[in-house]
Amino acid sequence: MNFICATQQSNFQDLLLTWFHAHMRSLPWREEYIPYHVWISEIMGQQTQMERVADYFLRWIARFPSVAAVAAAPELDILKAWEGLGYYSRARNIQKTAQLLMEVYNGDVPASHKELLSLPGIGPYTAAAILSIGFNLPWPLLDANVERVFSRLADIDQPLKQKDTRKALENMATELLYRRDPRNWNQALMEFGALVCTPKNPHCAQCPVQPFCLANKRDTVDWRPVPREKKKIIDITMACGILRRGNLFFIQQRLDDDIWGGLWEFPGGRLLENELPEQAVIREVAEETEWQVTNPVPFRSVVHYYTRYRVTLHSFWCQLPPTPVQPVLHAAKDANWVTLEELGEYPYPAGHRNLVQLLQRQ
Ligand code: SF4
Repeated sequence: MNFICATQQSNFQDLLLTWFHAHMRSLPWREEYIPYHVWISEIMGQQTQMERVADYFLRWIARFPSVAAVAAAPELDILKAWEGLGYYSRARNIQKTAQLLMEVYNGDVPASHKELLSLPGIGPYTAAAILSIGFNLPWPLLDANVERVFSRLADIDQPLKQKDTRKALENMATELLYRRDPRNWNQALMEFGALVCTPKNPHCAQCPVQPFCLANKRDTVDWRPVPREKKKIIDITMACGILRRGNLFFIQQRLDDDIWGGLWEFPGGRLLENELPEQAVIREVAEETEWQVTNPVPFRSVVHYYTRYRVTLHSFWCQLPPTPVQPVLHAAKDANWVTLEELGEYPYPAGHRNLVQLLQRQ
């Protein structure tokens, strides 16, 4: 499956590294390679565009300049700093790992593959990225960009997730690794995939390694990598209640082991079959708080995407009983009455965050 002979390898490496030094994007964690910074940028970069990550990263480092600061921060601050990146378990794992680093490693990130893999939220890819980019140690790595580049260079005609293909990609990453400068080599491959060998319309005419590319030679670039079967989008409809007492709004905090655990929301949930949103909101608020609300009046409906789900969230102003008792929480670990301004201080799943912003704009 390999596309290059041993004698051509250093020529290939030189071309790619020269391209990288001339074209790499200026990213904040590239100014000074600090393992803590590399770790945070890699977790943030999972399924998020690099330019967007840079903003989040700068805010994060300003708020949590060290592992110690992450370990000691209230969870609310961690989730708020992560708000909008999704996959909140990643943020919680960062804090758990930071606490372990303080307890066991004196606040340092260990330079050992085995030790990194034992930490919450750090898998083989992140461990390899921390070792190679953070510590400049010779660890090969494969992300979606590198997989695509390899699949085209070697003209791989099988789906990349297939077991034997995966093994072949790992071998390629190991054999091609430029051991004298793994930090820049791994970044060069990823950056090249992000900027030149892009998923759609790769810039083959400007490609520095085009003479080595089998897919280019065989005119199969448009079919590489072999596309995965597309997963269907699943529609979910939800309803939630905006409950107001004077100038205070009711919000509750989701249970830890729940999807979006630890985030805040207006009470509500999924519609049952044949149920209308205004019926669902009354039922859901009762199930979650034991409050019998009445007269739901539509506020706004918002749509957002979560993995392969398209979630439509209908919100309603709801009337509380004249003398409401304390809520009995069945789907939350905490609840608060907060002002409109204070609403903005809490972290929410995307749909509820949109509603908060709409309320604040009104
Ligand atoms: Fe990618 Fe095109 Fe370069 Fe091949 S020639 S590596 S497809 S950019």
